[in-house]
Amino acid sequence: MNIHEYQARELFEKFNVPTSRGGVATTPDEAEQVARSLGVEKVVVKAQIHAGGRGKGTFTNGFKGGVHLANSPEEARDFAGKMLGQTLVTHQTGPEGKLVSTVLIAEAVDIERELYLAILLDRATSAPVIIASTEGGMDIEAVAEKTPGKIFREPIHPLLGLQSYQARKIAAQLGLAGKQAGLAGKLLGALYKLFLQRDCSQVEINPLVVTPGGDVLALDAKFNFDDNALYRQPDIVAMRDKSEEDPREVAASEFQLNYIGLDGNIACLVNGAGLAMATMDIIQHFGGTPANFLDVGGGASKEQVAAAFGIILGDPKVKGILVNIFGGIMQCDIIAEGILAAVKETNLTLPLVIRLEGSNVALGKKIVKESGLDVISADDLADAAEKIVAAVKAA
Ligand code: ADP
Ligand code: MG
Repeated sequence: MNIHEYQARELFEKFNVPTSRGGVATTPDEAEQVARSLGVEKVVVKAQIHAGGRGKGTFTNGFKGGVHLANSPEEARDFAGKMLGQTLVTHQTGPEGKLVSTVLIAEAVDIERELYLAILLDRATSAPVIIASTEGGMDIEAVAEKTPGKIFREPIHPLLGLQSYQARKIAAQLGLAGKQAGLAGKLLGALYKLFLQRDCSQVEINPLVVTPGGDVLALDAKFNFDDNALYRQPDIVAMRDKSEEDPREVAASEFQLNYIGLDGNIACLVNGAGLAMATMDIIQHFGGTPANFLDVGGGASKEQVAAAFGIILGDPKVKGILVNIFGGIMQCDIIAEGILAAVKETNLTLPLVIRLEGSNVALGKKIVKESGLDVISADDLADAAEKIVAAVKAA
């Protein structure tokens, strides 16, 4: 799960991670009021979307930049007017962009240096790792590719936690000394605590800035949370903005289905993530393109199968469906009944290939055969993929 920058700042305030002052607005009037209430001359107006690269983004109406410096509350109002209700395209949004319905008005900070700081869960070591770079304010992937020597990694022992020598080491790598090294160390400690206590999988500050006065502040923030820990993070769940998410994925999560929308036209309904991946690969192998990744789980119920069909059919790109189920916890006959019920309920007219294997497979196949519905039966994975690719091409 992701959150907006303005929500990330609320977490920063709770955990004493220093950032600039600010407030949110959903209308130009409000933007002017917030700017006035900050009592400073210069503010920045920042489009709130679940994507980075806003500063260098372009709105579909031609207006350039999702981050602007305003020299007065009136100017903040003008910028807010140009952003609110508009769609912002950045290198992270995809060409369709994202609708801006909130802007953040933050105190503009004088910047001496822009740094990069992140904490993530490193799958290789199964432990948190701190990533830091002197090249802040830039696309970190590009820095990693062109100047990998400017990126520092500091693995954290999961039980011992962040040690003060590690904080000093990172501060030195970032070229910070004296008072600033102390401030950066404090900030790192606060950020690490936030990372752990809120079950984050990623916290990224880009840029972390040093001001001419020697302050160290987080000016942007990106969070990812571990979905499996959300049950114990009610205040994080309350920050979820479903309008930012793929509606198909929102619907799927309501039925505990693992669904990821893709660009192809062959929908797959599979139990188990490994089998789902293999199914997508083999569709591609036979010249088709998958419309989604969908794992209905080991113990998928009839209701989940029906919901999965509904989500698949809600995607106009889908021209055929491949069901690939390995009966284990769930038996093939029960799955077959669930699929057939869903086919009837949705008046399915698209080609549908069903491959069943495992417990009660003979009974499951018999139920499909005797249903009288227009369903193509397949014997193995390759057979199923070939049949659905052919059926979609013929349709
Ligand atoms: P994004 O990463 O989505 O482009 P940022 O929040 O990082 O958005 O803003 C882009 C740039 O704008 C930053 O790298 C920084 O130079 C500048 N900026 C952002 N917030 C402020 C602020 N409060 N004061 C001054 N400059 C800012
Ligand atoms: Mg940024």
